[in-house]
Amino acid sequence: MSHLFPNYSRLPIDIQQGNGSYVVDSQGNQYLDLTSGIGVVNLGYGHPKVQAALMTQAEQIWHVPNLYDSQLQEEVAQKLTQNQKSASDEPYLAYFCNSGAEANEAALKLARKATGRSKVISFEQSFHGRTFGAMSLTGQSSIHDGFGPLVPEMVYVPFNDLEALQAVLDEQTAAVFLELIQGEGGVIPAEVAWVQAVAALCQELGVLLVVDEIQTGMGRTGTLFAFEGYGIEPDLFTVAKGLGNGIPVGAMLGKSHLQTAFGPGSHGSTFGGNKLAMAAASAVCSVLQEGDIQVNVHLRQQQFLDGLQGLSKVQAIRGKGLMIGIELADSESLQSVLTQLRNQGLLALKAGTKVLRLLPPLTISQEETTAALAILQAVLA
Ligand SMILES: *Cc1c(COP(=O)(O)O)cnc(C)c1O
Repeated sequence: MSHLFPNYSRLPIDIQQGNGSYVVDSQGNQYLDLTSGIGVVNLGYGHPKVQAALMTQAEQIWHVPNLYDSQLQEEVAQKLTQNQKSASDEPYLAYFCNSGAEANEAALKLARKATGRSKVISFEQSFHGRTFGAMSLTGQSSIHDGFGPLVPEMVYVPFNDLEALQAVLDEQTAAVFLELIQGEGGVIPAEVAWVQAVAALCQELGVLLVVDEIQTGMGRTGTLFAFEGYGIEPDLFTVAKGLGNGIPVGAMLGKSHLQTAFGPGSHGSTFGGNKLAMAAASAVCSVLQEGDIQVNVHLRQQQFLDGLQGLSKVQAIRGKGLMIGIELADSESLQSVLTQLRNQGLLALKAGTKVLRLLPPLTISQEETTAALAILQAVLA
């Protein structure tokens, strides 16, 4: 009998080791991991620079409360935002927490307080996390079921639909929460023209645009953040998953004029900005800045797209960088495809009901990609 709540449907493998793009289970079976632990271990397992930073920090001190200055938090905040100069040259400030849901929770609180408005808009099929605020932002009734009443004044509108948004966006709206590529919802990219129109409308009505970069950020789509590829400037954006390469950490970044709503005592977290987390995040930011990884993301993206062409069980391929969604033909069972891949030593994910989702480490090599494609081709042909 398990001593755990059954809130996850778990596969019967227990992963105990990881190295680069590979993991090994308790039976000694090796898997090529195209999940990165759900978009977390973006630099691969045991990345030497992240590992070294963590080990060095572990020998100094693990935890210091937010009663004191933190040079490490300043360093990570600076690395995350140094290339995000707003048109008005207004800098972004950071708030650190421990997960994606907490980052969105902070953004939701800040947006309401800074605007003095309560209505918040998000999109159908979106995913923003599981805490009450983040769950209420999530536009999927299956995730709300049984937990109501939700946080009031949340409105869900169809994705990539400007008219539907215009019909509800007004001067009572505090914020619009947006994933630029819906991850859990099915790897669905937002259209560039639509996103730019959304940003313009928000600006016109004084509505804060919050971009959820929790899955798309930290280099996943070929730039540090996905919004860099959309020509927009979010008022707030949230990061987590890949930020610590596996150490739990999240961040909310927002334009500096918003700081008046987040004065001393307004919000906080005991563990937020923890030294171990910041040491890992600082190393992750430095590795991503070196640039070789982004070159690899573009090369491997092309290799995956070429290798996935013309497979009979595939209906469509979507995504950007190394966030790849493979929509299966209607007759195919996603569960069965995932099982066949796993039996051949390849771990992949699902998104929505019929999309096979690949989130390989951004460091995956050409040879590893060739090996992954051979298995994908065998199962999907
Ligand atoms: C995973 C995810 C979250 C939630 O992050 P947690 O760390 O699980 O709380 C929020 N938004 C998006 C887009 C995600 O992919």
